[in-house]
Amino acid sequence: MASNFHAGGERAYARTEGTPTWQALEEAIGELEGGEAVLFSSGMGAVSSVLHTLPVGARVVHPTVSYLGVRRLMGGHAEAGRIETAPVDATDTDAVIAELDGAAMLWLETPTNPLVGIADLRRLAEAASERGIPTVVDNTFATPLLQRPLELGCDIVVHSATKLIGGHSDLLLGIAVARDGDKGEELRGVRHDAGATPGGLEAWLALRGLRTLPVRIERMQATALLIAERLRDHAQVIAVHYPGLSDDPGYELASRQMDGFGTMLALQVKGGSDQADALCNSVLLITHATSLGGVETLIENRAAAPGEEHLPEGLLRMSVGCEHPEDVWEDLDAALAASAR
Ligand SMILES: *Cc1c(COP(=O)(O)O)cnc(C)c1O
Repeated sequence: MASNFHAGGERAYARTEGTPTWQALEEAIGELEGGEAVLFSSGMGAVSSVLHTLPVGARVVHPTVSYLGVRRLMGGHAEAGRIETAPVDATDTDAVIAELDGAAMLWLETPTNPLVGIADLRRLAEAASERGIPTVVDNTFATPLLQRPLELGCDIVVHSATKLIGGHSDLLLGIAVARDGDKGEELRGVRHDAGATPGGLEAWLALRGLRTLPVRIERMQATALLIAERLRDHAQVIAVHYPGLSDDPGYELASRQMDGFGTMLALQVKGGSDQADALCNSVLLITHATSLGGVETLIENRAAAPGEEHLPEGLLRMSVGCEHPEDVWEDLDAALAASAR
């Protein structure tokens, strides 16, 4: 918890040298992802720091469906003339490749937030690296247990450890992992100068969260699949998005690229935004809240959020938790019935 301390007889200052608690988490995540991990104050701290390493005017190819905060940050940088953005559908591999010439960075997120679309990391990273372009992957939805982008040829991974890694909705933390040690050092330098440093307690809590990540994911993704399968046949549901469904457009690619289909799903209800709101207000066990990756199941009318107008009306995002699967289903099923009236 200290800001300044003696490390092996040397005077140390946390922002400059890091702390043993930060280092323990950096070592663990670095080993899981296969690179040099650097902790940040939040997921957005990690994202901002990676973008900060770009030269002025750099062209960034990035997905149209992705975390809202990242899109807003990119949009702000573009408006200020710091970067140029090229938005693409990241699930359309050829469309992404067609945008690559002249780009300085390929930014990807897979599975995407909130439509859980799957981008082909191996093919895209290969096409980007042939052109000397680094590929960055937001791996928040998968975690290194389900997907390791650096092994697939990508260059940098970013995480909101606020979500699954922390796992208990009680901390804010970000991580960037670079395949190349020099890039890791550069990001450490950005963290130092920008002051985007993690808290000691947050790093300690995330380390503790990491210990149960495998069992949490196992339970959560098994429940997510069960819920997705039942929603597919539900009279109130127009569409279900979950890469673990064999008829989902991302199924085959996710089967090859990931070691599991994840804990997030999206559903579109028949009655549009009004029904989505009514559903959120009818759940009893499930919590109507934003964010994701904690032990409690959360639901949200994502399409109604400002900045998410590109999503289909009535699209809800669900972060499946660790409760008993039948309890989650019973609550959702009852809320679907109540919201249809
Ligand atoms: C939450 C989230 C972020 C931002 O992380 P914070 O810890 O909230 O700053 C970035 N990417 C994805 C996919 C997220 O879900």
